[in-house]
Amino acid sequence: MSALFDWVDQHEEEILETYKQLHMIPELGFQEFKTSAFLAEELKKLGFEVTEKIGGTGVMGVMKGKEPGITFAMRADMDALPIEEATGLPYASTHPGVMHACGHDSHCTMLLYALKDLMAHGGVRRGTLKVIFQPAEELLGGARAFIKSGLLGDVDEIVGLHVRNNSEAKVGEAARAIWHSSSWKILAKVHGKAAHGAWPHRGVNALDAAAAIINNINAIHIDPRTPHSVKVTRCLAGGTATNIIPEFADMAFDLRSQNNAGMKELLEKTRRAIEAGAAGIGCTVEIIDDGGCPAAELDPNLTAEAEASIIKVCGHAVPDVYTPGGEDFHCYAAEAGIKSAFIGIGADQTTGGHTPTMQLDLRALPIGVKIMADLAAKKVG
Ligand SMILES: [Zn+2]
Ligand SMILES: [Zn+2]
Repeated sequence: MSALFDWVDQHEEEILETYKQLHMIPELGFQEFKTSAFLAEELKKLGFEVTEKIGGTGVMGVMKGKEPGITFAMRADMDALPIEEATGLPYASTHPGVMHACGHDSHCTMLLYALKDLMAHGGVRRGTLKVIFQPAEELLGGARAFIKSGLLGDVDEIVGLHVRNNSEAKVGEAARAIWHSSSWKILAKVHGKAAHGAWPHRGVNALDAAAAIINNINAIHIDPRTPHSVKVTRCLAGGTATNIIPEFADMAFDLRSQNNAGMKELLEKTRRAIEAGAAGIGCTVEIIDDGGCPAAELDPNLTAEAEASIIKVCGHAVPDVYTPGGEDFHCYAAEAGIKSAFIGIGADQTTGGHTPTMQLDLRALPIGVKIMADLAAKKVG
């Protein structure tokens, strides 16, 4: 197996070069035209059968082995964020106002070189390998676009990865499991009735309803052993003249739960809190489900296999990471029934993801390549 790792050491320069190339051309979700074109071309060069434009910009490569086996998928996300890069790096973004501030460029690079490594060492011998370069993770829409395409119907297992900051895994370390929370957004449009401030009884104050709704939201409880939160994140009302009773309030709520049962309960209670708050004041309310993503439901056996690959490369695996962050990768398990594992690669992200000065320690790249290559070889090599 060390031949796989030696190959990575020999190709380190090339790996970093590809990462820098991708870093310079960040693209927003469902607009990953240059990124997906580059990756599709690379897959074709490796001999994969390539399908493009999945959900608009998604790319899938398929390679079948001669011997029977499972259909194994490996996924990297491609999209960047609407942030003006301020790292000052020589390979900083060349696209104004867009930046790879979440490290998805590193995921694409690690997955691509894991495939190159695998192909240099016998390729896919057993079963089928499906490589997914997914659009729009940040918009929580790319995984569902892939599921909707019907191209994953035969996939038995899927693995994904994300770089982590050093509080979770340092460079040279990796976690076998990232337990993302479910994350959801709910909008509420509260309608009352306008009136002169001198005659409040002639109107129905939408801001009073908003206040009641916020109080109700803050009184929501679910089993405290499930890490969770629900809070108001937008409340726009009034704001014209100060002597007018506002007739409309525009509200938004952010919900998190470490498991999917908790999210189901939070969604029901949030809906009830909004309806009751509005009704108590005499307002009507329109509740809009603005979408979200499920919590991680990771497969224990595949996670154990990921751990074995991590141990082979890093010597040990750091403890599982539990995070209130969401990740649409978990749609593949929760909504398409595919067994999944999600690996965290320590990358010493300075200033944290989603910030204009975010930088990765590039030594993380070859480590991620080795882990993914080892896992691919184990499943289909
Ligand atoms: Zn992100
Ligand atoms: Zn991300």
